Amino acid sequence: GQRSYSFMLRTKNPSGKVPTQLYLTMDDLADEFGIGTLRLTTRQTFQLHGVLKKDLKTVMSSIIKNMGSTLGACGDLNRNVLAPAAPFARKDYCFAQKTAEDIAALLSPQSGFYYDMWVDGEKIMSAEPPEVVKARNDNSHGTNFPDSPEPIYGTQFLPRKFKVAVTVPTDNSVDILTNDIGLVLVSDAQGEPQGFNIYIGGGMGRTHRVEATFPRLAEPLGYVPIEDILYAVKAIVVTQRENGRRDDRKYSRMKYLISSWGIEKFRNVVEQYYGKKFEPFHELPEWEFKSYLGWHEQGDGGLFCGLHVDNGRIGGKMKQTLREVIEKYNLSVRLTPNQNIILCDIRGAWKRPITIALAQAGLLHPRYVDPLNLTAMACPAFPLCPLAITEAERGIPAILKRVRAVFEKVGLKFNESVVIRITGCPNGCARPYMAELGLVGDGPNSYQIWLGGTPNQTSLARSFMDKVKIQDLEKVFEPLFYYWKRKRQSKESFGDFTTRMGFEKLREWVDKWEGP
Ligand code: SF4
Repeated sequence: GQRSYSFMLRTKNPSGKVPTQLYLTMDDLADEFGIGTLRLTTRQTFQLHGVLKKDLKTVMSSIIKNMGSTLGACGDLNRNVLAPAAPFARKDYCFAQKTAEDIAALLSPQSGFYYDMWVDGEKIMSAEPPEVVKARNDNSHGTNFPDSPEPIYGTQFLPRKFKVAVTVPTDNSVDILTNDIGLVLVSDAQGEPQGFNIYIGGGMGRTHRVEATFPRLAEPLGYVPIEDILYAVKAIVVTQRENGRRDDRKYSRMKYLISSWGIEKFRNVVEQYYGKKFEPFHELPEWEFKSYLGWHEQGDGGLFCGLHVDNGRIGGKMKQTLREVIEKYNLSVRLTPNQNIILCDIRGAWKRPITIALAQAGLLHPRYVDPLNLTAMACPAFPLCPLAITEAERGIPAILKRVRAVFEKVGLKFNESVVIRITGCPNGCARPYMAELGLVGDGPNSYQIWLGGTPNQTSLARSFMDKVKIQDLEKVFEPLFYYWKRKRQSKESFGDFTTRMGFEKLREWVDKWEGP
């Protein structure tokens, strides 16, 4: 039928910023041309499923005209640049968000190809900051930048998709270590931005049964002062463009280049393009996961309110209420990398009526939302993703309920939680390899189980068991959670516990399990 010719479309919103008009447009488009729901992604964008080919041009031009872009949301180029979604009026947050926008502009393809195709040659582009244009075209800074019509992408784009995130110290709402480039803004004692710590070489995707493919955490490259950041990013991207593998897509992400070269060689090559040496990393405090749920002060007199969206899917009553509130108060919106939504720039006087409207729709009752749901993520998988091997989004509500039931059975309290992420294939779009409990589809109705991530997303999980049938999950969950409850150290997270115990011990418990 017609459905098989339908398209999936992603917007591009650096740091998840969504102007009022774009939100309302996406809300309309979902009803008119999509499947009636809005889907927030793990890269702070909207994804619109089920757009028919004949409608594609109308949809794209509506998005572009309403200040959203779809340019570079897919394909072998830079994906949406992440940054903390919170609209804090703090110098560091604002600077990190602006840097995300600058990098998105820097790494946008320069040929008019996409725009020409999408809106009949009618170019609708926002003006780029002059420092971005300069950094893109200025080759005097380093050495060796080849001349080409695409200063960053050259004649053949990148070997593979490319992911960048920017954040401030302690705020790991962006899963910083899972990106090709992760930038952490360093400020002085007065809060003035000074420079960036640069991490490189993270990435989640892998292929089942191909041992040479693996998820990888980003590692430190070095520090650069703020005025050099665009040049440093450009130098890293060009290093990957010139040297990343193009013969086999399985190995073409930058993480494989860094793994095969080692960080020293990679740094040397980047420094040749960059034209300077990287400075040593600045020491930073521990990472924390920030959800921004509920009401907060922005710091400029305004308020913001973070709302949990299960799996990023906005539909039904939630969709209707959000639209009403956003339209009535002309609110701008931010999307988080955890697929949640933040209503921004709310005046004090509006807090009460907005609270009432949200509460009536059941959107503001955190104590009724299971803590497991607050940190859980699933990718779209069936029926929307052609790569899916098994269920993720459609299956996760039932799986979380089963985990909660196991918690109750082994005596874990309601406020206990673990970070659970589920994907329909090893590509890992919902970053399951950073979860405390990751389920990765490896066959019809079966999952590989990954353990060992941490609540603040700083360590990589490892694969614990293969081919666990969906109906058998309790056989693994029960012993693990039973022993976590009994043998954990004070406040020890499930992820830390599984790492401390070691997989051999965990396997023994699973194998010998006969019930609590
Ligand atoms: Fe599709 Fe796999 Fe990504 Fe899920 S993880 S959305 S199944 S590619």
